[in-house]
Amino acid sequence: MGQPLVYQVDLKELQGEGDFPCPGCGTLISPEDETENVYVILNTKVNGDNLEELVIQCNQCKSRIRLVGLTVP
Ligand SMILES: [Zn+2]
Repeated sequence: MGQPLVYQVDLKELQGEGDFPCPGCGTLISPEDETENVYVILNTKVNGDNLEELVIQCNQCKSRIRLVGLTVP
């Protein structure tokens, strides 16, 4: 305890439009959601023009989630 959990979600493994349940609390998270009601973006990692990695934090359970597989090479 004490350390915030960081989950990793690979968007390439998701079905549908990229929505996924938060690994911590099950809240549905949509990467298309630009309001900050459900999650906030903590960090982005860009390689050239490609968004490589996104670190978000769930507003419900405060889990951090690292999103990978955002772009298909
Ligand atoms: Zn959560």
